[in-house]
Amino acid sequence: MTSTVSQHAQTTTSATAATAFGSSRKRAESAWSPWPRLSKRDQSLYPKLSFSIGLAILCAAVLAAMILSRAWNDFVEARQNHYDIQYFRQILDTANFISAERGPANDAMSDPSETALKRLAEFRARSDAALVSLSAPPEVPILLHDHPIPRDLIEAVTENLALARTKVDHAATVQGGEAKLRAMQAAIEAMFGVSDRFRAVTTWRANELIGHDSGLSEPVLVGQMLADLREYGGRIASEVIAPLASRQRIPLENIIDARRDQGRIHQIWDMLRGQTALNVMPDLARNQAAIDTLFFGAGMNMVDTLIKQGKDSSSYSITAVELTRAFVPTMKSIEDYRTAFLDKTVSRVAAERDGALKLLAIVSLATTIVLAVLIGVLLSVRRDVFRPLLQAREEVIGLAEDRPLAERLASGGAGEMTRLFDAIDVLQDRMRERASLTSELRQQAETDGLTGALNRRTLDYIAQNGSDGSPKDDALALIMIDLDHFKSINDTHGHLAGDRVLVETAKLLKREAPIDCVVARFGGEEFALLFPCSDINQAGRLAESIRAKLENHRFTVSEGRQITVTASFGVACGQRGPSSWRHLVERADKALYRAKADGRNRVSMAPISVARRMGGEGDQRLRA
Ligand code: GH3
Ligand code: MG
Ligand code: MG
Repeated sequence: MTSTVSQHAQTTTSATAATAFGSSRKRAESAWSPWPRLSKRDQSLYPKLSFSIGLAILCAAVLAAMILSRAWNDFVEARQNHYDIQYFRQILDTANFISAERGPANDAMSDPSETALKRLAEFRARSDAALVSLSAPPEVPILLHDHPIPRDLIEAVTENLALARTKVDHAATVQGGEAKLRAMQAAIEAMFGVSDRFRAVTTWRANELIGHDSGLSEPVLVGQMLADLREYGGRIASEVIAPLASRQRIPLENIIDARRDQGRIHQIWDMLRGQTALNVMPDLARNQAAIDTLFFGAGMNMVDTLIKQGKDSSSYSITAVELTRAFVPTMKSIEDYRTAFLDKTVSRVAAERDGALKLLAIVSLATTIVLAVLIGVLLSVRRDVFRPLLQAREEVIGLAEDRPLAERLASGGAGEMTRLFDAIDVLQDRMRERASLTSELRQQAETDGLTGALNRRTLDYIAQNGSDGSPKDDALALIMIDLDHFKSINDTHGHLAGDRVLVETAKLLKREAPIDCVVARFGGEEFALLFPCSDINQAGRLAESIRAKLENHRFTVSEGRQITVTASFGVACGQRGPSSWRHLVERADKALYRAKADGRNRVSMAPISVARRMGGEGDQRLRA
């Protein structure tokens, strides 16, 4: 029975939204989804954001990879430089050993004492070990590459060295005079030849390194020049050692070679002084001063004096062994300088490698942190801000459009978002309250407080405007019902008993009326039934049936007391609409009046209109 009231309550006014708020507003049970339900207009927004976030992360990752790969390359390069310079140093050391072998060789040739021969054997063993390790270099560390020295270059050195050594050994056995001079000259020349052969190794390796990384070119060239300085410095003394040992005059070509070598080392020394690689190492200045004083000072003076002495005569102020003993320490200043420079260069390159490693570690850490933070921030903005915002937006639109809201995701996003959703919940509760209040007020406005039937105003509205469920055909039948002698019920049984009769009558009417029939209290003890119908006879039959039901109904007026009530019925048919409604009421009322006048407890039907009469219908009265 609630159906009639609520059915019409929902369809009679224009406040559709408010009516819907009156209905139950439980959230729709929906399948869980990680995305908020979005309206069509929003559907591109979330993928767009996700795409942008993905793109930002990708760009950041590419950037990080570029920075990282740069730092990585720098590190690998610094490692390679360290390896290369160390290996180059080993080559220079070998060159030095071969040059240095000439000192003990000269001694042994000048005075083949046991000590001198033993010392020569030691120097030879040192050179051999260095050459062996050069021909079998250590394994190249991972990620690095090597420039293996061509085997034939080393082999040529080894062969020449063996030959030169035979000549040295032979010269040591020759006793004084011209023969001794020639044998020693040949041996010394052969030893020079070995150094020249080895220079091919140094040059080959230097070219490889410079070609591979120009950053190493300066230390490599300086190292090579220092090796040359030592080599040609040593050769100057060797030019006079043979005449000195054999007590012969110095041959002219020896003097020319010595002068040429002197010119060469002065040139090398001048060039070396201008090298940035050396000038950036101020603590080498002490070594430079030592070379100037010892080698270019004492050493060269010694050679000059001997050349002067040996040019015209064969009488010398010192012996060959004494020359070696005096000259070798002056050479040491060059070797110290060379060693100090190479030490510093190697440690500088090692420091560069360590710096590159540190930078790589810092860059890796920093890029990892930046990437992680960026990804974290972007994803959390998407999860905690953007997604909840879209959901909140969807919920607000849903509230406005009175749509059932989708299940809210468990994670409500950031704290601020939780407050937003709380506010939406409050809003929703208030709208529900307002909707139920509106519905209550509407019900009060539309229904009769005593009987629960629709009131007169609502009846007027439906009759004039129809409802959503109204059929297209606007033909209406109106049955007006007036209880007979109701006043006497009031008078006899009391006003409350009268009220009860009215309530029960309304119930009976609702029960007996067809489903599409509007039951209204027209006023006082009058009721109206309005329903779609164009056949007055059909309406009359309905009225008659209800009349009979009412007549036979027992109304309880007080405990144990029951009464019967009758009513008079006026039936009319007409059209929906404002003017025809008034006319329809008048005609039904007249018919009712006739029923009263004809003795009550009966149904009277209004005469049909002219048009209908042409269709063959006439006046009719139904009696009880
Ligand atoms: P008739 O057969 O000619 O219709 O006689 P009647 O007595 O029914 O008609 P009348 O118009 O003289 O009396 C109607 C009475 O209905 C008068 C009024 O006191 C009573 N009435 C109207 N509204 C209510 C109500 O809400 N409750 C009660 N108890 N009585 C009502
Ligand atoms: Mg009346
Ligand atoms: Mg009456």
